[in-house]
Parts: sequence; C-alpha cells; structure tokens
Amino acid sequence: MIAPPTTVDGFVTEFLLNLAQDRGVTLQDSTVDDRYLALVRTVRGHLAARRLETERAPRERKTICYLSAEYLLGRQLDNSLLATGLEDIAAEALAACGVDLDELRAHEIEPGLGNGGLGRLAACFVDSMATLGVSSIGYGIRYEYGIFRQSFENGQQVEHPDAWMRGGSPWEFPRPERARIIRFGGAEDGWAVRAVPYDFVVPGYRSGAGILRLWSAEALEPLDLPAFNAGDYERAVRAKTFAENLSKVLYPDDSSPQGKELRLQQQYFFAAASVGDVVDDLLAGGGTLDDLPERAIFQLNDTHPVIAVPELMRLLIDEHDLGWDTAWAITQRCFAYTCHTLLPEALEVWPVDLLRRLLPRHLDIIYRINEEFLLTVRERLGEERVAAMSIIAESPVRAVRMAHLATIAGVKVNGVAELHSQLLRDAVLPDFAEFFPQKFTNVTNGVTPRRFLRLANPALSALITEAIGDGWVTDLERLRELEPFAEDAAFRDAFAQVKAGNKKRLNDVLRVRDRTEIDEEHLLDVMVKRLHEYKRQLLRLLHVVDTYEGVVSGRVAASALQPRAVLFGAKAAPGYVMAKRIIHLINAVAGVVNDDARLEGRLRVLYPANYDVTLAERVIPAADLSEQISQAGKEASGTGNMKFALNGALTIGTDDGANVEIRQLVGDENFFLFGMTEPEVAALAPAYRPGESVDAGARRALDLIASGAFSGGDRSVFEPIVTNLLTEDRYMVLADYRAHADAQARVDAAYADPDAWTRAAVLNVARCGYFSSDRAIRDYQERVWG
Ligand SMILES: *Cc1c(COP(=O)(O)O)cnc(C)c1O
Repeated sequence: MIAPPTTVDGFVTEFLLNLAQDRGVTLQDSTVDDRYLALVRTVRGHLAARRLETERAPRERKTICYLSAEYLLGRQLDNSLLATGLEDIAAEALAACGVDLDELRAHEIEPGLGNGGLGRLAACFVDSMATLGVSSIGYGIRYEYGIFRQSFENGQQVEHPDAWMRGGSPWEFPRPERARIIRFGGAEDGWAVRAVPYDFVVPGYRSGAGILRLWSAEALEPLDLPAFNAGDYERAVRAKTFAENLSKVLYPDDSSPQGKELRLQQQYFFAAASVGDVVDDLLAGGGTLDDLPERAIFQLNDTHPVIAVPELMRLLIDEHDLGWDTAWAITQRCFAYTCHTLLPEALEVWPVDLLRRLLPRHLDIIYRINEEFLLTVRERLGEERVAAMSIIAESPVRAVRMAHLATIAGVKVNGVAELHSQLLRDAVLPDFAEFFPQKFTNVTNGVTPRRFLRLANPALSALITEAIGDGWVTDLERLRELEPFAEDAAFRDAFAQVKAGNKKRLNDVLRVRDRTEIDEEHLLDVMVKRLHEYKRQLLRLLHVVDTYEGVVSGRVAASALQPRAVLFGAKAAPGYVMAKRIIHLINAVAGVVNDDARLEGRLRVLYPANYDVTLAERVIPAADLSEQISQAGKEASGTGNMKFALNGALTIGTDDGANVEIRQLVGDENFFLFGMTEPEVAALAPAYRPGESVDAGARRALDLIASGAFSGGDRSVFEPIVTNLLTEDRYMVLADYRAHADAQARVDAAYADPDAWTRAAVLNVARCGYFSSDRAIRDYQERVWG
C-alpha cells in the first residue's frame, strides 16, 4: 500500500502536488478554494489508506448497518486531521507554504444533512463505532440540499437553499460500480431510479474507520434523445428531473412527520438501496441468506427507514425464492428499532392508499405480517386488544403505523434516555411492552468527545490533559479523575480563564458572522436547539421580558441585575407558523431590550441566525448556563444538554429526558432543577386553564408584549402568541413560569460567587463522562446487537 506522508516535508510535497495536478495551479496563483481542496485531497489520501487497512481485517464479525435518513455531520477537516494524527504536521506544512490553515478551516461548508438532534446523534454514532473498531456502515441519503440556511429579515426567518456541494464535495468517494436500481409502483405502472452510493470515510480516533454510504438518485436514462431531437427540451430531461428530485432536498421538519409522498419515496429509496447492498455483499463474500442475522443488523434510527423491513421480506421471497416462514425468521433477527419521540403526533403513519400506489407489494407483505401477528395477539391478550396493536390504523384514514411494524419486526426496541424508555413502555407502546417485555430496553444517548470537547474546546482539552493525561478522549469516564481538581484553587482559576478565553473565541466569530458580540464579562446564558413549542423558548423569553419590564417600570434598579447575555439559536420548520412567530418575537425583544439605555447594558439578547454544528462548536464551550427547559415528558433525551455539561456550563432544567441523568450524576447542588415533573404534568393536564391563575411576572410580560411594545405599537403582530398562552398553552409555559423565574434567581445568586460557580462547573465536567457516544455504542453492543 502507498504510505501517505507522515512528515512535514512529505505533507508539503503531497499538498503542492495536489494543487498542481488536481487544481492545475501553482501555490502563487491559487485561490482559497484551490488551497482548501488540495488540503482535503491530501488528508483524504490518509483516510482512504485507513479504510483499506480496516477492510482488509478479517470480517467474521457482525456489521452494524445504521439506517438513518439524517446525518448532521458538521465540518470534516478538523476532525479528519485529529483522527489521523496529522494536526501538527498539517499546521507546520501549511505554515511552511505560507498558507493560513484557519482561513482554510473557515472556508469549509458543513454538510447539513440533518435537522437537529436525531441527525447529530447518527453522526456521533458513526464516529464512535469507527473509534471503537466496531465493524459498521452508516446508510443514508446524499441530499443535494441539506437543512436550509436561515437568515432574518425584519426579525423573521427566511430560508435559503443550502448548496453545500457547490465547489464539489471533496470528502466523498463516488462508488458508481455499486449503483442499484430501485423500483416503485406495480407491475403495470412501475418506474425506477438508479441509486448511486457516495462514501464518506469515517475515521476513528487514531485508528479504525467506518463508512458512511449516502445514496444519490439518478435517472436510468438521463436524456430522452428523440424528444431532444424533436425540439422538446423540457420533455427530454423530464425523467432526469423527476428521478433527481428523490435526493434533492432534506425535509426540514423536526419532531413532526411529513406525510408527503416524496418523503416516503426518499425513505424507500435509501432503505431498499441499503438492504440490497448488504445482501449483495453477503452473497458476494460467499455467505448464504441464512447467515444474514449473524453477519448484519439494521439499526433503525426512528421510523424513517422502517420500510426496510418489508423490503427485506420482498427480497428474500421474490428474488431469492425463500418461503414466507424462512424469510420472516431471518428478517425478525435482522432489525432493531430506536424510538426518538414522545409526541404522539410525531409517530409516523403512511396512508394505505399511498402505499398501495407506490409500493403495492410491500403493502401486501405488511398486511400478512399484521395478520399473523394479530392471530397471536388475539390468542394471548384477547380480541379487545387487536385494534390498538394492529399495524393498520383505521381512522382518520387507513394507515400503516410504522412504529408498530418496527416493534414487531425488531429484536429490540429502545428509548434514548431512562425516563424516555420508561414512558415508551408505559405510555407510547404499552400493549407492546406487555406482549414483548424482553424487547424493550434503554440506551441513553451520548455525544462524541472528539468533536464536542477535544475539537470544540481546545483550551479546556489542554487543561484536562495537563491534569489527567489524554486517555479521556477515548475513555470519557476518566474525567472522574478531575474531581479532586475542583478543590484546587489554581485549577479553578485556570478553568475560569479557559471559559473567558472561549467567550473571546465566540466573539471572534459573532463579529464576522453576525456583526454582534457578547460582553465577555456577562453571564452567558444559552438556549440553542430547534425552535419548538415543547422546548419552550417562550418560557425563557417571558422571563427576559419580565426582567426588562421590571427595570423600565422602575420596580427594579438596573444596577441590581446580574449582567447577562441571553443567546438563542434555533431554526423553525418552514411550515410551523407558531414557531416562526416565536422567532420573530425573540428578535423583536432583542431589538428593544438591547437598545434601551435604562438597562445600562446589563441585559442583552442575541440571536445569531443559522444555528448549525459549526456555530454549536463555538457557542457551547463559551456558555455559563445551559437552558434545558422542555415540558417534562416531552424531550426524549436531548444531546445539547450533554454537550454543555461536558464543557462546564451549569444546567437550568426540568426533570426531562437525559436532564434527569445529568442531574443524578452531577448532583442536585450543581444543577438548577425547576418545574413540574412528568407525573405532575399528566395530573394537571385535564384541568389546566392557563388563563386562570397567571403568575404576576408572567402577566406583566404578556401585557407588555400585547401592548405592542415590541412591535412598534402594533398589537396584532404577537397577539396570537399571547392568546395561545392564555387559552391553550399546550406545553404549560405559564404553569412553570414562577418555578423557572425562581430558578433563574438562584442562578444569579450562585454566579455572584464565581469561585463556587467554577467549582460546580468543574464537577459537571468531571461527572459527565457517562454521556460519551462511545458508552452509548457499548450499550447497544451489550443490550441490542448481541
Ligand atoms: C446537539 C445539536 C442539536 C440537538 O440539541 P438539543 O438541545 O438536544 O435539541 C441540534 N442542532 C445542533 C446543530 C446540534 O449540534
């Protein structure tokens, strides 16, 4: 094998060669783009070598085939340099060439092939599998346009297409020889597209590699030449346009299913291509179909890929001539299902009519799976349970419940945090938990320490390594060894300086990116995540408005405020009207509050547009306070909460998702808990009348908003928000208002003692090693993959 350069000189040679051969320029004539692409080429050579090495290793182990419609990867350059151990060599080599590495870093566009937490989790998992040396392949869709780029016009969200591939997609390896044909429709009205895979190498930290194989849709015949020759140019390319639409754009929805035909087409497109790819590989390697369960498991990241279940059945029966029982016995051992939600409206269902038109054979297979399953239900639990457990819902229209299909077919079903897994058993799928008690398990989510600590927070990483060595990068529980340092005044000082430095680093980007900055002396209070009513950005905002009102009405002296910068970052699904209104309100409040001299600059609201992984990596290490304030019982896990705690922010949070586990680990005294618990929410829900006993602070905030104070006197603009809270308030913002405000007062009091605050922050870091995605992957190996 060609050994890639591992010396500075070798790296320089390779880089210049790539500039000349790939870009056709000399260093003197090169643009930033040329230099960036030549650097990627150089690093990619190492990834390719790493991958060949991994592939040559004996392959008798089971391969984890992770099926996910989303991968929110973030930038690749730094992670690739870190994983290959080339950080210093590349930096020196580029410096020797007079090239600014930071400029090239900033030039990279992150592939935003996901919406938020679910897609980011998939990216963390492929990183951890590669690092742990788990034989793995991630399958997904190579969306030409990822999650939209957000900007604000007059405070309102505007969506722009995310052309992440403009200027090429230099990290990928196209694999046209592995292309497959995917067929839709029935025998008479069928049509087909070609699925072409592009591989990203997922480098493990210092060793190992996995593959992320993303499918792109192409027409079988790119051009209808007779139509073209006849002058009908539109018809000539119609098939091409039609086919390419399949992988054209990511659905920008989070926590709500889309229900659109194109979405189902996307799901089947990538599920069928992936299952076919795995089966072909098995057979090509001399395996038999009976071996499949020993050689591969398909981990279903939510219900989006569940159509892979009937697809495997179809493949085994129609194309490989197995009998139903044999095929079902194999299929039942090849899938496992991760549920990501608690919102009943977020459970995917597909109308039977749509499936009959698009995938008639699969509908037949689903019906038969259901028939046989319901026979046993009838026998064991009785007729009265049949309707609730059927894969087919009868109203409002006949539809296939994908979560039921996944649960019946899967070896295991897991939730993503302890509380979530419990609610999954008790509330979301209780009949199934009774029927298949051994299937249900929990794997609490995690995040990769490489990206979210080692890369995002270089100064803290260096401080930790100085204290306890660098073993934590692949064994995050070693952070425990930091605990004694919480009592070490010199360490606390150094830790506080790291935080201060990270605020400067954040300002370096905010100034360029958003022409704004935080006051580096302020407590940095951060709420970054998708905009959704259940996450309750409004709860945070009402308290900001209440604080503002207190000062301008003269009830509170500005000098009495703990100076704070409250930073929001969030995209809203383009069709989610209320979420977009909330974005508008946050920006409107920011405009008024930041301009009002009466606050003496002691309260600032910032809302940098386009929250993405790149921004997350700057914001999170700088944060003092992490807002995790969803209504209890609504956030399945959260992973943002973990990133913040690992970077030494204290959490103000409800007893929801993985907040529960964070609090148990860091200790009540190092966490600002508030609000109703899930059982309290459930108990209050039937009789909740939000308008009847509104807290005085919340009332003042609502009145000020309703008065038009943030909309130039126009009372109509935000009236729907106020009315909704007072009459419906589905996520009980008002019921938790006082508890939240009191907890914020506790935050202020705690921050007034910087040394004690830092001690708590150090303990958060030291005690959150559990939230590594490496640990999560080990849990999957033990509890799910066998
Ligand atoms: C981690 C992450 C999320 C998930 O955040 P939650 O607070 O868990 O919802 C969403 N978007 C980006 C860019 C992230 O990095």
